[in-house]
Amino acid sequence: MHTANFHPLDVEAIRQDFPIFAGEQPLAFLDSAASAQTPQPVVAAMDTYYDTYRSNIHRGVYRISEEATAQYERAREKVAKLINAPNARQIVFTRNTTEAINLVAYSWGSATIGKDDEIVLTVMEHHSNLVPWQILAQRTGATLRFVEITDEGLLNFAHLRELLTEKTKLVAVTHVSNVLGTVNPLQSIIDAAHAVGAKVVVDAAQSVPHFRVDVQQLNCDFLAFSGHKMCGPTGIGVLYGKLPLLEEMPPFLGGGSMIRTVERDVSTYADVPAKFEAGTPSIAEAIGLGHAADYITQAGLEAIHVHTQQLLQHAHHRLKETQGITLYGPEPHQKAGVLSFNVAGIHPHDIAGILDMHGIAIRAGHHCAQPLMQKLDVIATARASFYLYNTLEDVERLYDGLRKAQKLMHRRSHSR
Ligand code: PMP
Repeated sequence: MHTANFHPLDVEAIRQDFPIFAGEQPLAFLDSAASAQTPQPVVAAMDTYYDTYRSNIHRGVYRISEEATAQYERAREKVAKLINAPNARQIVFTRNTTEAINLVAYSWGSATIGKDDEIVLTVMEHHSNLVPWQILAQRTGATLRFVEITDEGLLNFAHLRELLTEKTKLVAVTHVSNVLGTVNPLQSIIDAAHAVGAKVVVDAAQSVPHFRVDVQQLNCDFLAFSGHKMCGPTGIGVLYGKLPLLEEMPPFLGGGSMIRTVERDVSTYADVPAKFEAGTPSIAEAIGLGHAADYITQAGLEAIHVHTQQLLQHAHHRLKETQGITLYGPEPHQKAGVLSFNVAGIHPHDIAGILDMHGIAIRAGHHCAQPLMQKLDVIATARASFYLYNTLEDVERLYDGLRKAQKLMHRRSHSR
């Protein structure tokens, strides 16, 4: 893991870039898997756009519009570099992961999937990598198949192999589970899918922010992620696709910017990626995303991974030694970024509410993964997630907060 130019994170210096941590009430922000905080350089880049060259792109023949266009396209190049895409044209800006996956389901899916075809998913998918495929299956008559997980919360690879047949046209899989934290063996999944001629869509919402994802090495067909989970703003996401696939696919949304010529009854379409970016895009947000890619690259994705693993390990051991706490998912070395748990006798929403009174932000609920909740036989879980600005002190505060919640609920149940 450690290479010659590895530099551990300077977490104190990083925290200076996040004004939210300088507030009067110290904030232990343990919900970055839902949406990460945004560092000052990213906000500053968006402010500079608004303050000095605010204009629409790809149209204006004047200086500030050309500047906006150049910055928007530079952001595309930065994102391409982040995931090692061979060509920046393979980066389509969307609103988020959800829209990127819907783009594939509507455009590629409608053109490719028929009633005898099968789409293989896993039971750990986020709704955004499930519902678009359900809608496609309902529209086309295709069948959805689900790979089960093992008791430890790992993908059951033998089951995946059983499900893969010549009927499989697509495997849509998350790289990292947003509930269990499980890091799936993506390379093997992609190789196995390709061996039966299926394409692969990767939901990389929880992986791109945390470690290096190389689309050329993986050889995935599509990969989707969101800006707001990797220190970027909301309202911007990414679809990466192999160029021949993107070129063959019909448009997703029609309108301005995505056309070459328009007549009354018929139009021709622009080249990729403009073909998939109808209307005025999120310009400031794309520029912000480019700077977020710079930010996490400069901090070092390897260093981010090592740091968040330390926090995850520490939290795992702290919570594991606490009576009444159930942890979900595999051992820490098999997961990334998130730790889901339940505390006996306390609803996850109450846990989150009590922790909030102590300045600790975690998430509670079904985490947009209801089939996984059913599989785990729970209604909801509490989830702490870790990122580059978190500290061991944040983990200790989580632990102390949970102990306080347990004592409070214990007192309440005895005073009834
Ligand atoms: N997939 C995974 C694994 C996620 O964690 C999330 C966000 N919770 C999404 C997809 C959806 O991301 P967005 O809401 O930005 O579209």
